Amino acid sequence: MNIVYLNGEFLPEQEAKVSVFDRGFLFGDSVYEVIPFYQGVGFRLDEHIGRLNHSLRAVRIQNDQDWVGILEQLVSKNGGGNLSVYLQVTRGSAGKRSHAYDDSLQPTVFACCTEIKDIWQAGVDDVVSLKAIVTEDLRWHRCDIKSTCLLPNILVLQQAKDEGVQEALFSRDEKLTEGSACNLFIVKRGVLYTPKRSSEILGGITRELILELADKHGIQFQESDIDYDRLLSADEVWVSSSTRGIVPVIEIDGQQIGNGQKGPVWQKMFELFTDVQRKLMTGR
Ligand code: PLP
Repeated sequence: MNIVYLNGEFLPEQEAKVSVFDRGFLFGDSVYEVIPFYQGVGFRLDEHIGRLNHSLRAVRIQNDQDWVGILEQLVSKNGGGNLSVYLQVTRGSAGKRSHAYDDSLQPTVFACCTEIKDIWQAGVDDVVSLKAIVTEDLRWHRCDIKSTCLLPNILVLQQAKDEGVQEALFSRDEKLTEGSACNLFIVKRGVLYTPKRSSEILGGITRELILELADKHGIQFQESDIDYDRLLSADEVWVSSSTRGIVPVIEIDGQQIGNGQKGPVWQKMFELFTDVQRKLMTGR
């Protein structure tokens, strides 16, 4: 049975109840994080908590908690191991529906776990490449906030599925921003490129790690604009996220990327990345 966390209590999931007037439910007035735990240890936990605090500050939800303590207890109550933790903080409930809110509201804090498969044990051949479409980025201009207002992300992913592919990449003002739930990288002549960090994209924790690893291991990289032509003429395209890791994209809008195979720079980065995960797991 899954144990979830709700407002100070650890409960079987069936017993966790939230008010229908909760602003997270009524307005999407809430922020969230998704944090992988490997063998009970949070992956880049400080960075995730840092981003959560950034999101909370940006939407003016005041909620200072021992996040690490809550998450570690939750993971342990769910048997430890390899779990992805979802944490959501809403502005709370005023017992009525009104756009305006009072600063005295008590935020609702909810967290739950789902099992993740052993990606660090997977080899390069186990990773399934993706096909994607490019769609207009109709989101607001604060995509740096990890808000639960995900309707544009949900709709483009569904559009991708309707078109028989697995991912949708957003384009705003002729520049690629990111994917529906992932950051975007391209490789051209051995150099790695990714859109600059700005309020138009989420500052992905995996993205940061990829850039750190590139720096440390002599892979040339640049944060720069990527337009549609550069995207389609790239040798490699990848997307990254905490839940999926780093995944090659081999076809976009029906056009093959590079030679249509997983590229050598991706393979190197995948190995560096899984090595970091493995070290974390084994405590080395
Ligand atoms: N961009 C968006 C819109 C996302 O939703 C996510 C993850 O959910 C990411 C990027 C990747 O972020 P991270 O690597 O922190 O999971």
